[in-house]
Amino acid sequence: MKHVQILIVGQGPAGISAAIYTARAGLDTQILGCPPKIEGDYDIDNYFGFPESITGAELIKRGVKQAERFDVAIRCERVLGIHSSDRNTFEVKTEKGLIEADAVILATGVARVKSMIKNAADYEGKGISYCVSCDAFFFRDKKVMVVGEGIFAANQALELREYTSEVSIYTQGRELAMTPEFIQRLKKANIPIIERTITMATGENGLQGVIFKDGGTETVDGIFVARGEASSLDFAYSLGLMRKGVFIEADNEQKTNIPGVFAAGDCVGNFLQISVAVGEGAKAGRSAIKYVKGLNGITNGDN
Ligand SMILES: Cc1cc2nc3c(=O)[nH]c(=O)nc-3n(C[C@H](O)[C@H](O)[C@H](O)COP(=O)(O)OP(=O)(O)OC[C@H]3O[C@@H](n4cnc5c(N)ncnc54)[C@H](O)[C@@H]3O)c2cc1C
Repeated sequence: MKHVQILIVGQGPAGISAAIYTARAGLDTQILGCPPKIEGDYDIDNYFGFPESITGAELIKRGVKQAERFDVAIRCERVLGIHSSDRNTFEVKTEKGLIEADAVILATGVARVKSMIKNAADYEGKGISYCVSCDAFFFRDKKVMVVGEGIFAANQALELREYTSEVSIYTQGRELAMTPEFIQRLKKANIPIIERTITMATGENGLQGVIFKDGGTETVDGIFVARGEASSLDFAYSLGLMRKGVFIEADNEQKTNIPGVFAAGDCVGNFLQISVAVGEGAKAGRSAIKYVKGLNGITNGDN
């Protein structure tokens, strides 16, 4: 398994900014993430240093170039899950494999996609879950549905298959967004992909069934929501991070409640702006440097 000192999830302003700090401090730094939403033809008028304005695309391009100058490795690769390992490191599962990291910086922005099940909130913790690693155990040999259309959903369904044989994926009527490799793996694992849309959950004392948009019904024990791609929130569930609503809780130094995990930018939910993301990224980088140098017995981590 590849090992890096710092793994940053997110190629937006927060992630790139953090990487510039960690790489300049001599730490082996890997960014996983694809170009962010702002990487388009949007004029950024309020970011310091560009009196004539700059497009989001140009700003990100410059940031990436700067990070690469310090040997930051950047890959457009989706992270599907993060877990603490018993070696005092983190195992980061991506769509292409596993990477081990001494410290992780979450800079995933905000992109939580809703389940489309109208009363999902009433069943959270009572049959509807957002975290397979946390809750799959409770659904051993039970019938479960995974809601989602992407490889995150595929991955979650495959993980669930280790607990029960009755797993199916519901795309909620959306177009499938999985690679042929994942579709093949689902087929091999006997996990059907169904295009119907679940609109309501039913059950008196916890989840017992669903109602589809076409009026049909079906019994079910558990639903795992895995729409879009894995977000900071999903990583929060599997790592045991404290949250505030859809955001990760981080202190003034961007530390979360889990040593070695830092969070910056929109995913911590302060003022959702580039300048703030860049500033928080710098602080997360600095804290991660101190943490990793501490692991190696070096006390001065300032840079
Ligand atoms: C259209 C638009 C216009 C805007 N205009 C302005 C403006 O004029 N001024 C301003 O200050 N702010 C503006 N903003 C807000 C600004 O873009 C954000 O505050 C800023 O980009 C946040 O940076 P971030 O690094 O925290 O997250 P983001 O820029 O959202 O980056 C998130 C990164 O995480 C990656 N990611 C997420 N999940 C995963 C995963 N599972 N695996 C791997 N990677 C993952 C994404 O691919 C992306 O690279 C605008 C936003 C939008 C959408």
